[in-house]
Amino acid sequence: MSEQNDGRPVPTYPRVHALPVVSFSGGKDSLCTLIKALEIYGRDGIRVVTADTDNENPLTVEYINHTIPEFFGIKIDVVKADFTAQIARKRVYVETVWPTKGVPDDIIRSALATLHPTGNAFLDLCIWKGRFPSRRVQFCTQELKSRPLSDYLDNVIASTSLHVENWQGVRRDESASRANALMWEIGSTKTQAHWIHRPIIHMSALEVVAFARSRGVPLNPLYALGENRVGCFPCVNCGKAEILNLYHRWPEVIERMREWERIVSAASKRGLGTFFFINQEDGRTDAEHFEANRIDSAVEWAKTARGGTQFDLECMIPPAMCSSEYGLCE
Ligand code: SF4
Repeated sequence: MSEQNDGRPVPTYPRVHALPVVSFSGGKDSLCTLIKALEIYGRDGIRVVTADTDNENPLTVEYINHTIPEFFGIKIDVVKADFTAQIARKRVYVETVWPTKGVPDDIIRSALATLHPTGNAFLDLCIWKGRFPSRRVQFCTQELKSRPLSDYLDNVIASTSLHVENWQGVRRDESASRANALMWEIGSTKTQAHWIHRPIIHMSALEVVAFARSRGVPLNPLYALGENRVGCFPCVNCGKAEILNLYHRWPEVIERMREWERIVSAASKRGLGTFFFINQEDGRTDAEHFEANRIDSAVEWAKTARGGTQFDLECMIPPAMCSSEYGLCE
């Protein structure tokens, strides 16, 4: 078994002593992983968990909450981050520290009026941070997915005498950062070590789809609508084609982005917040920077041909995956 893991250690306990916890994103890779876990352990022998960011496509929410649980007769646990305490602390900081830093009164008043939890995890994270995440500052993955799942795993580990294994739908050919992923690896939560298992690392995208189809399991309907990524909708890593698809198929999401940009801008020390960072030219005022990057500008940029006029360094970073170490999106 250790040969399958590049000569690295693998678990030595009997499989009957294992409790797989499958990270499920609603994508094809975690679906394939879930099927494999069910075929080995049965539905009573595994746990399945998903992280709800409150920024998901409704079709994915339906798929995770109903289609898959009903198809397999399983329960999927949902974890969600809550930033109420962080926002309360930020209010105190804005009230006491911003005036000493020369932040204008109108910006402080605007931030204090906005720094209240909305109940939407993704938006609350951005209100707390006073900005949206970006490819370079991708705090969303850690705050919305990794931390809640780590807490969940801690609770599962504390509640069982079995060896908890976090099963992740990670494939080596997904991205350069996953090219050396191991099938078995020791991971750790805040307080505990556990095994990570990636049973599909050698499979291609076509193979995982064929595997799900061979078992008659429905795929996330987003794939049939031209989406190739399942995760936040939209994700800060969206490329032109995905933004254009949003514009054509999901105008209500564009509308939501506009509203979120207004709210996050109001909570920001610079008075601006844009969901995408498509154009980072130096020498602009904050207002010009907002204008160049706001959602409507991103849509216009997405309509330009590849390599169009607004292509800049930020966009030269290879399209990234969500880097959740728990394989919670693809
Ligand atoms: S899917 Fe994208 S926006 Fe969502 S947590 Fe991952 S990187 Fe961030």
